[in-house]
Amino acid sequence: MTATSHGTPTGTQVSPSPAQQTPPEPPAADPAPQVLRGTPVVPGVAVGPVVRPAPRPRLPEVPEDGGAGVVPEEDRDAEIDHARAAAASVAERLTARAERVEGDAAAVLRATAQLATDRGLLGEVRRRTRAGASADVAVTGAAEKFAQMFATMGGLMAERGTDLYDVRDRVVAVLTGQAEPGVPRPEVASVLVAEDLAPADTAGLDPAQVRALVTRGGGPTGHTAIIARQLGIPCVVAVDGAQDLLVGEMVLVDGTSGTVEADPDLEVAAGRLEADRAARAAAAAWSGPGRLGDGTRFPLLANVQDGAAARVAADGPAEGVGLFRTELCFLGTTVEPDVEAQAAVYAEVLQPFADRARAAGGPGDGTDVKVVLRTLDAGSDKPIAYATPEHEENPSLGVRGLRVVRRDPGLLERQLDAVALAAERTGLRPWVMAPMVATEAEAQGFAAAVRARGLVPGVMVEVPSVALLAARMLRHVDFLSLGTNDLTQYAMAADRLSPDLADLNDPWQPAVLALVAMTALAGQRAGKPVGVCGEAAADPLLACVLVGLGVTSLSAAAAAVPAVGARLATATPEQCRAAAAAALEATDPSAARAAALAALG
Ligand code: PEP
Ligand code: MG
Repeated sequence: MTATSHGTPTGTQVSPSPAQQTPPEPPAADPAPQVLRGTPVVPGVAVGPVVRPAPRPRLPEVPEDGGAGVVPEEDRDAEIDHARAAAASVAERLTARAERVEGDAAAVLRATAQLATDRGLLGEVRRRTRAGASADVAVTGAAEKFAQMFATMGGLMAERGTDLYDVRDRVVAVLTGQAEPGVPRPEVASVLVAEDLAPADTAGLDPAQVRALVTRGGGPTGHTAIIARQLGIPCVVAVDGAQDLLVGEMVLVDGTSGTVEADPDLEVAAGRLEADRAARAAAAAWSGPGRLGDGTRFPLLANVQDGAAARVAADGPAEGVGLFRTELCFLGTTVEPDVEAQAAVYAEVLQPFADRARAAGGPGDGTDVKVVLRTLDAGSDKPIAYATPEHEENPSLGVRGLRVVRRDPGLLERQLDAVALAAERTGLRPWVMAPMVATEAEAQGFAAAVRARGLVPGVMVEVPSVALLAARMLRHVDFLSLGTNDLTQYAMAADRLSPDLADLNDPWQPAVLALVAMTALAGQRAGKPVGVCGEAAADPLLACVLVGLGVTSLSAAAAAVPAVGARLATATPEQCRAAAAAALEATDPSAARAAALAALG
């Protein structure tokens, strides 16, 4: 992820003396453009001039005593009113913007607006102004106190720190008469380059004005990435050297390879844009089912989190569900739903596929369509009040996924009872897999519990120990599913939420590909399926490599399936194998991408 300049120096040329004169050299070729590399997040190619968000405001210093005693007694009430009014006007503006957009973008803006008028935060500001701090100092100090609290909580809560600092900057800007930070509205369609973008900056971006996003910080699971995905704006994060790109400079952003080229050759850029348009058109025209270039069938499935997503997926070309993240149904739930209530939730996801199978005239015995349900992956960045321990030093290495049964074995028993009930009611017999399995004994115990209910057991490959012992796991279960998000995090020992480690947290890392290859081989030897359901399956180029490594199905968000299907349809099994071999040999993710691209032709 280093900035590599292939440019030739353009310093002063010294003319040779007459005695040195030799035939004139051919004119020097134009210097190759400077190529910066980062982590690709949203595929697509875009060209445009660089724009940058307005700078963050200057913040006041907060003395150790919080600035107490600076404002005279009689003015303190007015100071509190200033702070309240500034926070209210920030919240109002954010809410107004939320009304102009939809989906995740609206939710992000509303959440940030809520934070601006959060009672806890304003209570702390009041406490500080009462003690005599000026409004701007009180807001800065209060925000810092809460951000630190969030940081010690880790995981998703730590990410809320970014939102809080954004709110602080906006409120302080209003209080001190500085420009409110944010994204400019460029007159020509541009590429937005930033250190990182606050959620409220990215939410509501207009894709007609902003053709691509490039950040020096940020990670593939951060807010910038989520919003860029929703808007379909090509996006590359963790780009080293992005800070040196000049406002107005033309850049070519490739959200598939993760590159940003400054001052690109415009003819080359036009060719790349055209190829990208063709790929998008192919994705739009793709209607499934999954096939490789030689016509070989290859199952493509959808990742879903609830009945609504399952209905969307069942209406599209995905053949089934490769990952139903059951924990996402219960994120805000404080008391464990009983078996009946859980069964209703699971049946909502099974039903659309049961209906589809029936409409297609399948045998109707529940085996003709594949729906893979994952048992509760509570913990780490998905804490669930009734299942997750409250204070863990290191939650991603803690009691998450299947490990929650160590504290409460009944949780799994009740969930499996509910799944069996949903299966009985819908007539669809799901495959059931456990997250965060680490040992053979865990796989064996889980498989027994699932089989006892007439369901098909499998385990996820997220902990490298399972990839290493894949053959032994397959003695107990009927399938494996590679969760490349966590497999990458644990193989590379890099927190998947850390913006500083995005280059390590890349499923193109050759070590991760080697673990995938090892698992797929074990599956082939055992004659059992090995799918991929992590984000890696949503990357069309990586999808070809995964097929070449020997996996037997891919599962991604329904919106990502057509691009993957269209790409696979252009690659023969031999080309996929060549791409996989080349990627495995590469020294780093960007070399692996380049090698795979070259092998696919
Ligand atoms: C994974 O780890 O790749 C996975 C699919 O699970 P999650 O992203 O929900 O942790
Ligand atoms: Mg996982």
